[in-house]
Amino acid sequence: KPRLILVLGDQLSADLSALRAADPARDLVVMAEVTGEGASVPHHPQKIALILSAMRHFAQDLRAAGWQVAYSRLDDPGNGQTLAAELLRRAADAGAEALICTHPGEWRVLADLQALPLAVTVLPDDRFLCSPGDFAAWAEGRKELRMEWFYRDMRRKTGLLMEGDKPAGGQWNLDAENRKRAERSLLRPAPLRFAPDAVTEEVLTLVEARFAHFGRLRPFGWPVTRAQAVQALDDFVTHRLPSFGAEQDAMLEGEPWLSHSLLSAALNIGLLRPLELCRAAEDAWRAGRVPLNAAEGFIRQIIGWREFVRGIWALKGPAYLEANALGHGRALPAAYWGGETRMACLRAAVGQTGALAYAHHIQRLMVTGNFALLAGVDPAAVHQWYLSVYIDAFEWVEAPNTLGMSQWADGGVVGSKPYVSSGAYIDRMSDHCRGCGYKVAEKAGEAACPFNLLYWHFLDRHRARFERNPRMAQMYRTWDRMPADHRARVMNGAETVLARLDRGDVV
Ligand code: FAD
Repeated sequence: KPRLILVLGDQLSADLSALRAADPARDLVVMAEVTGEGASVPHHPQKIALILSAMRHFAQDLRAAGWQVAYSRLDDPGNGQTLAAELLRRAADAGAEALICTHPGEWRVLADLQALPLAVTVLPDDRFLCSPGDFAAWAEGRKELRMEWFYRDMRRKTGLLMEGDKPAGGQWNLDAENRKRAERSLLRPAPLRFAPDAVTEEVLTLVEARFAHFGRLRPFGWPVTRAQAVQALDDFVTHRLPSFGAEQDAMLEGEPWLSHSLLSAALNIGLLRPLELCRAAEDAWRAGRVPLNAAEGFIRQIIGWREFVRGIWALKGPAYLEANALGHGRALPAAYWGGETRMACLRAAVGQTGALAYAHHIQRLMVTGNFALLAGVDPAAVHQWYLSVYIDAFEWVEAPNTLGMSQWADGGVVGSKPYVSSGAYIDRMSDHCRGCGYKVAEKAGEAACPFNLLYWHFLDRHRARFERNPRMAQMYRTWDRMPADHRARVMNGAETVLARLDRGDVV
């Protein structure tokens, strides 16, 4: 009897474990576009289009390689519109009783698959460099899980940027060279975008008709095939990797990409492999085409952060999604869905998110994330937002980044201290503040930057938890040394901002 081989929309890799376990002469590959998958959160139209178009291209490649593929299009009349319904329909049609799949990156999907009345085999997703078992072994017995230690082990394990058992250049982490402001430059090369082919056009028309979610669908330029993704990688390494390190944390008005790679989506849906990105960066450094701080910074994001958060997701399981260590419960401000705001940094981050389904790391962490954390927004609402609006958002990577790194909802598993800052950080790293409706230099009063007010409000309301954190104690001493009347003005100002958020007034 044939077995069903499931390939999900973020499993578009020719050497996926489920495909490796299958026999093209006997088995049936199942791929399904279903509204049930898109219904949990309102995904950005470009994200839906990317996944559907990449799935359709991948199915063509599989067929060309000799596979039988049962492909359900979103608008097929017989489509049951959930994964389970489609798998059961295909099983009945083909007379199959067994399903082979690769571990999905979302707990709900795993539970749905395991509940099917089929003999279900879930294979590990070995497209990652560190397996859940290896991560658990690394984590075992450690008081704290710190990315930096994990990263060094991954450097040793992969041999990337190593000279013998020493890090190339003598240091593991060159971030100190990477915190530069960016200058405006007319010469900064824009990332490669790809004009939609007929397959993508058809998908765009379908998405346009079906999904009225937050975010613009066109222009659509994301790579949807492996060949395009490889081109995008080459383009990044040649043109933007050289300045990636230095500009990594910078933000400029009207410059959504700076020197970032924009490769996360292609990587997360399986068109690229983590190690090939890292080898490309290492080769460019060894050939003298990019500085070490750029190659190291880029490689650290991939074998460090990306593998680390995947390990946390696998280790902590579905309960992690409910985490709310700080007891935050405020609704997500309307500005996150494009509502009016006087804050220039928030407007820029949300504006480009709507237009492009993309914001880079510092925008996600230090603008939208920082503001939600300072304002005490319900982490579940923040998680839903990030999962919806970004082209690269899949639960295994988005949840630990949002709930852990950004909202400290996991109580310090991902980060030893919360990523919070006042407006001064944003002013130092960007040019947003000069065009803002608030004044970043004002520390209290009507015109003060809301980050300045909410920063102290956050520290004050969570004093019991953070005062003794060695990395935060200094901030409490600074706060306590301020005159009492100034502190009262700051707290009043913060309360006013929070009350405005609660009323739905423009902030
Ligand atoms: P670059 O800046 O060019 O970085 C290179 C690559 O490193 C990325 O493509 C990505 O694969 C990897 N990387 C960098 N930082 C991280 C990180 N913290 N975790 C995992 N991988 C990383 N990344 C996602 O892929 N999906 C998400 O849903 C996601 N949600 C996030 C939510 C929040 C609140 C925060 C703070 C970060 C999130 N990130 C997420 C991490 C990071 O912001 C994105 O990977 C990055 O912005 C993608 O753009 P890029 O490809 O241009 O990255």
